[in-house]
Amino acid sequence: MKRILEWQIATVKSIRQETPKTKTFTLSLPNWVRHKPGQHYDVRLTAPDSYQAQRSYSIASEPERSGEIDLTVERIEDGEVSSYVHEVLVVGDQIELRGPIGGYFVWEASMGGPILLVAGGSGVVPLMSMIRHRAAVGSTVPMQLLYSSRTPEDVIYSDELMRLQYSQNGLGIIITFTRQSPSGWNGYKRRIDVPMLREVAGPLGNIAQAYVCGPTLMVEAVANGLLQIGLGSNQIRTERFGPTGSIG
Ligand SMILES: Cc1cc2nc3c(=O)[nH]c(=O)nc-3n(C[C@H](O)[C@H](O)[C@H](O)COP(=O)(O)OP(=O)(O)OC[C@H]3O[C@@H](n4cnc5c(N)ncnc54)[C@H](O)[C@@H]3O)c2cc1C
Repeated sequence: MKRILEWQIATVKSIRQETPKTKTFTLSLPNWVRHKPGQHYDVRLTAPDSYQAQRSYSIASEPERSGEIDLTVERIEDGEVSSYVHEVLVVGDQIELRGPIGGYFVWEASMGGPILLVAGGSGVVPLMSMIRHRAAVGSTVPMQLLYSSRTPEDVIYSDELMRLQYSQNGLGIIITFTRQSPSGWNGYKRRIDVPMLREVAGPLGNIAQAYVCGPTLMVEAVANGLLQIGLGSNQIRTERFGPTGSIG
């Protein structure tokens, strides 16, 4: 039987500044339901005059953590909802949400691999839930993250990603910087392109399943690139975060 999604009132348990533009909100849920990595929640704000704004935010945490979820929100200049949660929400506040939502852009360890994750900016959020879930259940499914970030300070979950890469069998993290890279950096320094996808995805073989998430234009460019290097459309799942004029 299909579950009816009810709005519930979550309480902000903690807030962590991840990067200058992103914050993670840990929310305690009275009606917590185990999610699948890749799913999202809808957040609804209601003004005193009853005006409402609603946006989707991916779950960053692993489903093995019960009773609460992490949402990581990038502050968009003049963004109605993202600015509000960044500037106004404090620990102890209550916020309305419903979920978990989504059945297609999901991965669980039982689905196997190998897995290619491709993120642009805050598109890393649902992929982080997959990476954390893989670690939580001790999976050794080969998993490779290719993460495009403008600058080093924009890399969300940077320390945890590096720690997991060293401690988890079969997990690879590759970052490409599109605007500014650390001094002495000898990794990728450009937008994701077909040669990069070939180099990163090649070792996974032609049976890899790909999950691509980020700004709309970036997701479309990467999905086309994956088709060009020989993946079938049934091997590519995409999630578009929103309208932005840039893929860098
Ligand atoms: C399934 C799904 C999951 C998502 N998960 C996350 C998440 O985990 N973290 C997160 O930070 N965001 C996520 N988003 C994007 C989020 O839903 C909002 O679109 C975003 O926070 C902007 O909302 P806003 O009200 O602040 O901006 P708005 O007031 O809606 O828009 C303000 C301006 O910013 C532009 N804009 C809108 N969205 C974006 C965007 N994503 N990037 C750049 N410019 C934009 C608009 O065109 C407009 O010009 C997700 C979107 C979807 C569909």
